[in-house]
Amino acid sequence: MSDAALLEKLWSRVTRTDSCWFWTGPVTPSGTGWIRDGSKPKKFSVHRLVYEEHFEEVPEGQCVMHRCGAPNCVNPEHLYVPPKRVVEHGARPGPKARPAEERFWVKVDKSDTSGCWEWTGNKNGSGYGLFMVRSPKKELAHRVSYRWDRGSLPPEKLVCHRCDNPGCVNPSHLFLGSARDNIIDMVEKGRGRHTSHPGESNGYSKLTEREVRSMRKLYESRNMTQVEIAKMFDVSRALVSVVVNGKAWKHVT
Ligand SMILES: [Zn+2]
Ligand SMILES: [Zn+2]
Repeated sequence: MSDAALLEKLWSRVTRTDSCWFWTGPVTPSGTGWIRDGSKPKKFSVHRLVYEEHFEEVPEGQCVMHRCGAPNCVNPEHLYVPPKRVVEHGARPGPKARPAEERFWVKVDKSDTSGCWEWTGNKNGSGYGLFMVRSPKKELAHRVSYRWDRGSLPPEKLVCHRCDNPGCVNPSHLFLGSARDNIIDMVEKGRGRHTSHPGESNGYSKLTEREVRSMRKLYESRNMTQVEIAKMFDVSRALVSVVVNGKAWKHVT
C-alpha cells in the first residue's frame, strides 16, 4: 500500500470535532490507535503517522505525545514530541521530571457529557484549577490550557469560560476577555468621578455610568455571560442582571 493510500485509509476512520479528531479504528491497551499497511503484519501508530505527515519524521525511540490527553486523538495540533531526556543508565526520572503537559492532563476528567473538561487537581477558593508548569509559580489551570492550545497568552489578558464552569479547562470553552483592557484603563483613570448622577448615588452606586454601558455592550454582543461580567467588575451576578436587563440605571443609555 502506498503512503497516500495508507493515509487515506487512516483519515477515513477519523471523526473530527472542533477540538480533538478521534480515531475510531483499533487501539492499543494504552488507548492509542493503530493501523496496518495492507496485509503486512506490522502495526503503525496512527497519531505518529499523522505527526510525521504534518511535521517531520520522528526518530526511532522518541514518542509522539498528546497535549489534549486523549490517546486516540489524531489532531496534529494536539501532538508533540517531548525533548529527549538523557537518562543515566539505571536511573529513572522521578515524577517531577515528567513533562508539564503530561502532569496536567492526567488531572483532567473529560467524561462529563456537557463537554466540560473538569480539573480534578487543586483549586482556589473560586473554583479555578491551580497548576504549576514551573516551580514555584502556581498558575490558573484554564489559563495554562488556553496558552498551550493557542500558542500564547499575554499575562494581562483575562481568559473567560463560555460554559460558566470555573473548573473547566477545555480550550474550546475558553475565550479571551479582551474588554478587560478597557476596564483596567477605565479604573485607572478613576472610577466614580461622576458621583452626582442619579444611578451612582443610589443603592447601585458601585458602578459608574461607563461601567454600566460597557456591561450592557459586553452582554449584548454575546461575548460574555452575566457571571463572567460580574467577575470582571467584581460585583454580584444579580447586579449585572438588573443592569443588563435595564431594570436599574434606566437613565444610562
Ligand atoms: Zn486532541
Ligand atoms: Zn466547559
